[in-house]
Amino acid sequence: MPASTPYSRRAILGGIASMPMAPALASNPSGDVDVVVIGAGIAGLTAARTLMDKGHDVTLIEAADRIGGRAYAETATFGQPHDHGCSWINHADTNPWQEIAREHGFDLLDHTSAGGAHFVDGERANAEQRRSYDHAWGTVTQALMKAGRENLDVAASTMMPDDPTLGTVKTWMGPMDFSVDFKDLSTADWWNSADSNKDLLVPEGLGTVIAAFGRDIPVRLNTPAQAVTWGGDGVRVETPDGTIHAKACICTVSTGVLQAGSINFASGLPVETQEAIGNLPMGLLNKVSLQFRDTRLGFSPNQWLDYFVPNDMPAEAVYFLTWPFGYDFMVGFIGGDFGWELSRAGEAAAVDFALEELVRMAGSNARNAFVKGHLTRWDSNPFVLGAYTAARPGRFSARAALARPVEDRLFFAGEALAAPYQALNSGPYFSGRDTANRVIAQVLS
Ligand SMILES: Cc1cc2nc3c(=O)[nH]c(=O)nc-3n(C[C@H](O)[C@H](O)[C@H](O)COP(=O)(O)OP(=O)(O)OC[C@H]3O[C@@H](n4cnc5c(N)ncnc54)[C@H](O)[C@@H]3O)c2cc1C
Repeated sequence: MPASTPYSRRAILGGIASMPMAPALASNPSGDVDVVVIGAGIAGLTAARTLMDKGHDVTLIEAADRIGGRAYAETATFGQPHDHGCSWINHADTNPWQEIAREHGFDLLDHTSAGGAHFVDGERANAEQRRSYDHAWGTVTQALMKAGRENLDVAASTMMPDDPTLGTVKTWMGPMDFSVDFKDLSTADWWNSADSNKDLLVPEGLGTVIAAFGRDIPVRLNTPAQAVTWGGDGVRVETPDGTIHAKACICTVSTGVLQAGSINFASGLPVETQEAIGNLPMGLLNKVSLQFRDTRLGFSPNQWLDYFVPNDMPAEAVYFLTWPFGYDFMVGFIGGDFGWELSRAGEAAAVDFALEELVRMAGSNARNAFVKGHLTRWDSNPFVLGAYTAARPGRFSARAALARPVEDRLFFAGEALAAPYQALNSGPYFSGRDTANRVIAQVLS
């Protein structure tokens, strides 16, 4: 989630030297190990590190050609660090990534009180429009809090008063923050998600921090798990390079991958686990970034730029982070149903849409100075298939259900089951670490 949004609940070139390096290669590529970990995103890396630190044999396999999963930064597109996935260290005082980033020598920017510009019909909001916008934040938040206090797990849309001024806020809190529209946002998921009172950004991109953390963890890249079987004597994970035998398996792939059936859980998952996977679909948040030459278009770096949208959902909107760290591109965020639709239309359509919306606010200078755009495609990345989970309304309990081990052999971990830190980068860290410790206690001791 972008978070640190205006009201969310929740020296660059020096840094390029510390961009991701090649990860360590696994020295024990096959055979019997204590634990096989599937997926080298945050949860998988953390689980592997926890097990290794306590002296256990681990084989970590990763389908992609890089580690990090949904944490990924690169410089190839714009010549400056560009995070495709997570960027913010939210709830920083309790988020382990703050300390890890500092230990690895990264500077952090406090982005908690980032200012923002709000536009109405292409003009900066006047005082009255600004007041109306502020009031809308209170109205939407109060309605969701009412549901939370009453322990309701219903669609957020059912709690909203009929008020035409709420569209921008609903778009922030739905598609931009939780990756789904209000009709698909569980009020229990919203209520049981960690609040953030400190949000940090990393000039080199947060993906670079996670790559640095994982650099010395042995991993077998380009090695997808194809089938998993388990029983009294342990677990077998089939890959194109052979079968790995282990006492336990920690599977950290997204629920998008689990729902797609990319891994055959051939011994048969319990009904409760299958239902949990079905009730934790992936929402979508994509970033559409636009690069410009020799202009700031009247906006300061590291600010939010949003605009009035009608009350309808799905909202056809893109909100921007302006010039992160003074780089020459802006990052637009497009999520929810409209995000899926626009991504299906392709990168060119998404870039056109974002540029036109920006031109309405910044004028035709924006078109003249435009260099190029880029769309992250988390929905079509076969190893992720969405951005992060949104529990179906009424099904928040699926997060806990997915965390229950299967016959003390197969353990799931990752963002999806890490409430109240779901959809964040802290959640998979805690989930990977805690699941590894559980495996040690329940299987390896
Ligand atoms: C656009 C976007 C913006 C975000 N912004 C923020 C933010 O600002 N702050 C924040 O806290 N969080 C944010 N998040 C959420 C955060 O990035 C995720 O919650 C977190 O990275 C998920 O980590 P994970 O380990 O659970 O899963 P993943 O990162 O998905 O890791 C799973 C790994 O499994 C691999 N895999 C898949 N299939 C197989 C297979 N068959 N065999 C082997 N390996 C396989 C994948 O390639 C991947 O590496 C954002 C996410 C997105 C997409």
